[in-house]
Amino acid sequence: MVSRARLLRAVQAPARHLTNSGSTSTSTSTRCGRIVAAGIAPASTPFPSTTPTAASSATVTSQRCLSTTAQRPLFARPTPVRGAKLTAETYPELKRDDRFARVTPEDVAFFRDLLGEDAAVICGVDGAGDAAASDLEPFNEDWMHKYQGQTRLVLRPASTEHASGILRYCNERMLAVVPQGGNTGLVGGSVPVFDEIVVSMARMNRIHSFDDASGTLVLDAGCVLEVADQFLAERGHIFPLDLGAKGSCHVGGNVATNAGGLRLLRYGSLHGSVLGMEAVLPDGTVMDDLCTLRKNNTGYDLKQLLIGAEGTIGIITKLAVQCPQRSPAVNVAFFGIESYEKAQRAFREAKAQLSEILSAFELMDAKSQQLVHAVRGEKRPLEGDHPFYCLIETSGSNGDHDYEKLEKFLEDVMTNDVVADGVVAQDATQIKSLWGWRESVPECIGHWGGVYKYDVSIPLADMYSIVDDVKARVDEAGLLGDTDEFPVLGVIGYGHMGDSNLHLNIAVRRYDKAVERVLEPYVYEWIEKRKGSISAEHGLGLAKKPYIKYSRNDTMLGLMKQIKNLYDPNGIMNPYKYI
Ligand SMILES: Cc1cc2nc3c(=O)[nH]c(=O)nc-3n(C[C@H](O)[C@H](O)[C@H](O)COP(=O)(O)OP(=O)(O)OC[C@H]3O[C@@H](n4cnc5c(N)ncnc54)[C@H](O)[C@@H]3O)c2cc1C
Repeated sequence: MVSRARLLRAVQAPARHLTNSGSTSTSTSTRCGRIVAAGIAPASTPFPSTTPTAASSATVTSQRCLSTTAQRPLFARPTPVRGAKLTAETYPELKRDDRFARVTPEDVAFFRDLLGEDAAVICGVDGAGDAAASDLEPFNEDWMHKYQGQTRLVLRPASTEHASGILRYCNERMLAVVPQGGNTGLVGGSVPVFDEIVVSMARMNRIHSFDDASGTLVLDAGCVLEVADQFLAERGHIFPLDLGAKGSCHVGGNVATNAGGLRLLRYGSLHGSVLGMEAVLPDGTVMDDLCTLRKNNTGYDLKQLLIGAEGTIGIITKLAVQCPQRSPAVNVAFFGIESYEKAQRAFREAKAQLSEILSAFELMDAKSQQLVHAVRGEKRPLEGDHPFYCLIETSGSNGDHDYEKLEKFLEDVMTNDVVADGVVAQDATQIKSLWGWRESVPECIGHWGGVYKYDVSIPLADMYSIVDDVKARVDEAGLLGDTDEFPVLGVIGYGHMGDSNLHLNIAVRRYDKAVERVLEPYVYEWIEKRKGSISAEHGLGLAKKPYIKYSRNDTMLGLMKQIKNLYDPNGIMNPYKYI
C-alpha cells in the first residue's frame, strides 16, 4: 500500500521531479506527465521502457495527452466447449413452429435472382447448392459457442432494396428469419434456433456522410463499429459507443441490442444518440426515418421501438448517429481497492471531483484479474492481489484543467485510503494496455470451456453482493472447485460500475444443466427482490426470454406483445426469442 507520506510527496510536488529545468511550466503535455511521475505508479511500474525520465518527459507526455485512436485488440472467441450441442438439443422444450415453411430449391432460386450474385447466397439446401457445413457454421454458432442453430441458408443483401425484397418474400412464404450483424451478441439472439434463414448485414457497410459541424454520421447498419470509430477519429470525432467487441460488431447490431458499453457513462444510451433510422419491416415496407436533426417532435418516435428490439420487428438498414467531438486529452488510471465499499467511495469521489471529464469507471474483482493473468501470462499493472480493481478514464478538451482535477482526485483517494495502489498510463500504448485488463475479461474467462453470463443492473449499494451469494450457493451445491470433476472454476464480477451494471459470470469447464438449475431462477429472483434489471445491456435473445417477467410486469409484457403482433403478425422475425 502506498503510504500517506509517500503520496503527499509524490502528488504535491510532482513538477520538480519531471522537468529538466525544474520550471513549473503549465503546458498541457508537461502537466499530464506529472501525474505519472508523481509516484502513484508503484516502483514496479509495468511499463519500464517508457517510464519518463527528466530528459524524456516532454516526449512521453505529449504522446500521452493525445486522444488515443489506437485499435484495441479484437479478442478471440472463447475456446470451444467440449461437446457443444445444437440449441434444439440443449433446450428440448423448444419446438420448431410448424407454421413456418421449410426452404426449398425454388426459394433459393428466387433469392439468387434477387441478390444477383452467387456470393450473396450461402446455401446448403439439398439440390439447391453445395455450401459446405463449414461455410454455414460461423452463421449458426454464437460467439460463446453456446448456441448452435441449423440454418441451411444465409442471405447477404447489399442494399435496402435487397433487404426489403427478402423480407417481403419471406413474409409471404412464412419463412422465418434471423437478422445477423457481427454475431457478437451474448444472449443467443443472433443465431437461428432451428432452420431460420440468416440475413447477414455484412455487405451493407458504407459510410454515407459526415457533417463535422453537427457531428452527424450517416452509415449502413453493417458497418463495423471500429471502422466507423476510426473514420470519425480522422475527423476529430468519436462514436458515442465503445465496447470490447468493436472490431467485429456492427453498428446495426449495436442499435438492435441498444448496446451500452464503455462510454455510456459519458455519452448516454443509443436511444439518445441515434437521430435517424432506415429499417425494413417484416412485410418489406421501408421505414425511412433517416432524420439527421437532434430535434424532431413530429409524432411518435417509431425508431425508438427498433432500438433494442433485437431484430424482432424489422431489419435496421441505415442509421444517422450524433457523434461527439473527440477529446484531445485522455488519461487512464488503474487502482487496487480493498473492499467494495471503498470502490463505491472511489466512484462517488470520481463523480464529484472529475465530473464532466469522467468518461469511464469500470470495476473488476480479484478473480477476474487472476483469470486474465492466467490466460495472458502478462505482468499485471499492480503488484500483489487486491479484492477489487477500478479503471478510470478521463477525457476532456483542456489538459491543464484535467490535470488539476485528476491530481486533486488522486491525492484525495490515496491519502484517505480509499485506494490502496494505482498506476496511470503514460501514453497511448499504456492506455491500451490498461484497458486490456478490463476488456479481455469476457474472452479470458471463457478460456476453460464456457461462461454462464448474467448482465444485470442492480442498485449500486447491493451490486456486488450477488457475486458473493452466487459463489456461496454454487459452492454449497458442490459444483465449484479447482479440478476437472467440478464444472465451475470461478464466480466473477466485473462491469460498468458507472452505470450500476454488473457482469456476473460463472466460468465453467463445460455447460452443465446442474449448474444452470442452481443459477436459475435464483439469480433472477435475487435481482427482482432488489428491483434490478435482468438485462442491463446485452438484451434478452434466447437466453433471457423465459425470465423477462422478473423485470417487467404483465401490463408491460402485454403492450410489448401488441407491438410485436402489430409489426410482425406472422411472427417471422427472430422467432423463439425476446418476448
Ligand atoms: C468481448 C465482448 C464484449 C462485449 N461488450 C459489450 C458491452 O460492453 N456492452 C454491450 O452492450 N454489449 C457487449 N457485448 C455484446 C455484443 O457485442 C453487443 O450486443 C453488440 O451490440 C452486438 O452487435 P452485433 O453486430 O454483433 O450483433 P449480433 O450479435 O449479430 O446480433 C445481436 C442482435 O441484434 C439483431 N440484429 C443484428 N443486426 C441487426 C440489424 N441490422 N437489424 C435488426 N436486428 C439486428 C440480431 O438479430 C440479434 O438479435 C460484448 C460482446 C463481446 C463478445
